[in-house]
Amino acid sequence: MSDYLELAQALAPQLIAWRRDFHQHPELGFQEFRTAARVAEHLQALGLEVISGVGKTGVVGILEGARPGPTVLLRFDMDALPISESTGLPFASVHPGVMHACGHDGHTAIGMGVAQLLAHTRARWPGRVKLLFQPAEEGLGGARAVIEDGVLADPVPDAAFALHLWNPLPLGKVVVQAGPLMAASDHFEIEIQGRGGHGAVPEDTIDAVLVAAEAVNALHHIVSRNVSPHVRAVLSIGSLQAGDAFNVISEQAQMEGTLRTFDPPVRTLILRRMDQVLDGITRAHGAGYRFNVIEEEYTPAVINDPAMAQVARAAAETLFPPADIMEIPPIMVSEDMSEILRRVPGCYVLLGAAPQGTTHGPHHNPRFDIHEDALPLAAALMAAMAYEFLSRK
Ligand SMILES: [Zn+2]
Ligand SMILES: [Zn+2]
Repeated sequence: MSDYLELAQALAPQLIAWRRDFHQHPELGFQEFRTAARVAEHLQALGLEVISGVGKTGVVGILEGARPGPTVLLRFDMDALPISESTGLPFASVHPGVMHACGHDGHTAIGMGVAQLLAHTRARWPGRVKLLFQPAEEGLGGARAVIEDGVLADPVPDAAFALHLWNPLPLGKVVVQAGPLMAASDHFEIEIQGRGGHGAVPEDTIDAVLVAAEAVNALHHIVSRNVSPHVRAVLSIGSLQAGDAFNVISEQAQMEGTLRTFDPPVRTLILRRMDQVLDGITRAHGAGYRFNVIEEEYTPAVINDPAMAQVARAAAETLFPPADIMEIPPIMVSEDMSEILRRVPGCYVLLGAAPQGTTHGPHHNPRFDIHEDALPLAAALMAAMAYEFLSRK
């Protein structure tokens, strides 16, 4: 069926040029003004209906097919990270402390390419394609913002697809699977309240450092002792702050951490056990505590719809050798495409984009880079997924 790969290969120099331009001018979440303007300009030139300012800096382009039919949403994220780039690339970031270190520069370029591929082939497919260029994926709530701004209404999408360039995998490998792919993420804060005093007179104090140390130990036992070994969950405490001086017993300790889960009941269980453990340990010492789970930062798990995973797989099979289409154990990082996938049946896929050589770093590293040959592969795959869904209906 598909010549999307040939069409996308012909676009490769353009895709690379767009990607390098976005890479050189990275913008943090909800500040993607320049990026969004480039996207909107391109979509307008292709004749799409364009809505800007969706969820502050998002852009939506609507492309009508040759005859009436269902609506498919394709989502691309645009934001960079607060990282100082050290790739030494000729098109490295010109904004100190801001870098495209996750590949969203590539995703934005891919989206522009997909718009072009589908616009030039619109005579062959029915229905409607809604291209969403989403702001602020990196933990800032961009998906929620565009949903609150109505991106899933008028027209309501019948299916949703998205893709991440994925460096842990070699170029051209595609992960397409039904069910869980990426974990839910929570950000929690813990404060221990003791009673400060002289380091030589502990009997007059409640040592917040000691209570925090016991709490850190006990909290790490929850996953190993209260959760089935068949269930995936991670609890990590990334920050512990207490005390100011060597001879002073600290009055307070602050901790922050992340919890990663797949099943909401497991999440509820762990959060409840965390509260019980903190209550018990602080009571034993006569200390107090505050346990806060930041609900606005919660990201649900990425769970692919089985029927949509089948559509995505069928599309991948028209472009890639069967041996390159694979499934993986679910990964513990999170991704806010899940906010869309829990409202619209859809599928999130990963495309291997590891660059050659060993000088590059992993995602979110100052030396992160992608293999640019992945750009046309990704554009072809996204176009083919939309085509496959629309032409099946
Ligand atoms: Zn990222
Ligand atoms: Zn990312």
